[in-house]
Amino acid sequence: MKYSDLSSYFEYKGRQFAERCTNCGLCLEACPVFPLTKVANIGPKAAITKVTDLLKGGEASAEAYEVVFSCNRGCGLCARACPEGLMPYYLGFIPAAARLAGAGLALPPLTYQHLPRHRYNSANFLSALQVKPSDVRWMKRPPPNPESAEVVFFTGCAPLGIPHTLLETMGIMDSMGVNFVTLAGGDLCCGMAGTLWGDLKAAQRLGEDLVSAIAAFRPRKAVFFCSGCYVMCVGTLPRFGAVPFQSYEITQFLLENVDRIPFKKTVNRLVTLHDSCHSARLGTFDAPRRLLQAVPGVKLVEMAHNRADALCCGGYTNSVHPEISEPMRRAPMFEAEATGAEVMATLCAGCHQSFAPLEARYPFEVRSFISLLAESVGVQRDDRFKKYVRLANIPGIMSEARDYISASDFTPDEIERILPDYLDRFCPGHG
Ligand code: SF4
Ligand code: SF4
Repeated sequence: MKYSDLSSYFEYKGRQFAERCTNCGLCLEACPVFPLTKVANIGPKAAITKVTDLLKGGEASAEAYEVVFSCNRGCGLCARACPEGLMPYYLGFIPAAARLAGAGLALPPLTYQHLPRHRYNSANFLSALQVKPSDVRWMKRPPPNPESAEVVFFTGCAPLGIPHTLLETMGIMDSMGVNFVTLAGGDLCCGMAGTLWGDLKAAQRLGEDLVSAIAAFRPRKAVFFCSGCYVMCVGTLPRFGAVPFQSYEITQFLLENVDRIPFKKTVNRLVTLHDSCHSARLGTFDAPRRLLQAVPGVKLVEMAHNRADALCCGGYTNSVHPEISEPMRRAPMFEAEATGAEVMATLCAGCHQSFAPLEARYPFEVRSFISLLAESVGVQRDDRFKKYVRLANIPGIMSEARDYISASDFTPDEIERILPDYLDRFCPGHG
């Protein structure tokens, strides 16, 4: 079904949600964050009723705000608990967030770290600590009248926070002989982050701008490192506009072309894969597993919770309720430890950023799935992000990253000002 725009799509979904929801409260009873909110005292039934009232045109209440903006937008335990088969965190809370934003209520303070085109969002400042302009192999925007390319690889925003994975992906695509160009996130954005926080008009403008930027190269295929961008380009943007290329998640694209990947080195590791919330929404569980099994030497073992039941990395939770983020992040780490795996492979850049700071306390490495492929192909890069978060010490990071910062458009003062907020969320107790 076509909609006139992103707002009318979520408006429709929100109304549908409010009509079908029985306000039984089972979703919030299952939610790990709800007991920490300021509205836990009114109970799950009354709290969800405030949200459904809002979706039916009622008050933009403080209670609805607390429920909607405390949600981590992905762990999905609410949806698994819902007897009506609803997806509260997505098709209920996004339209509710849009109504709250429409009523002029400001977002929680730390959410700026996720917002596209914000100077201090985490993708911008983290990549400034890890990539010098001379290493950059991506364009911020297409040049005027660009030459055509068979494939456009879009990095997304969050993966710029762990840029070694992008350089590794590009190294693998080079080794396969793919004719591709790379567009970076940051300035370009699929609109997912804005969508999750309810800024639907801005999200639509961003999504359409990204589609035009990719289409400028007249590609047959667009490949997305981040499944959030893929969800937007296959599931959301086509509902109200044309997307004139075929969209692939990186694991799907690599699997379809696996016979072109020149694996060389044996990577003798027992690996367990953490599925992300986006992959749970998409149901794309097989491609990353089959890819990892194609790497010579890699053996896979599953965590107790895997695929659609995978445990959340705690990602967005640490913007609003950092006090629960660490226990949430530890639950999948305990499960990974119980498998005896030597590597916990991450699919999503956000999950990697959640788990890597805890790695030192566990007997396994946290690595992006792409790094295992890159090691075998011989195009592996250093994970500088992990180096910094393991230091977890502002003077140490400033010293380690000095050359990168001086080559960036950030001043050392700016980085020193932003880092504490970031480390507070990911490395509690940092120095
Ligand atoms: S997605 Fe997770 S945090 Fe958000 S409402 Fe559902 S259970 Fe709670
Ligand atoms: S569990 Fe489902 S039906 Fe019950 S309140 Fe939550 S969303 Fe509504």
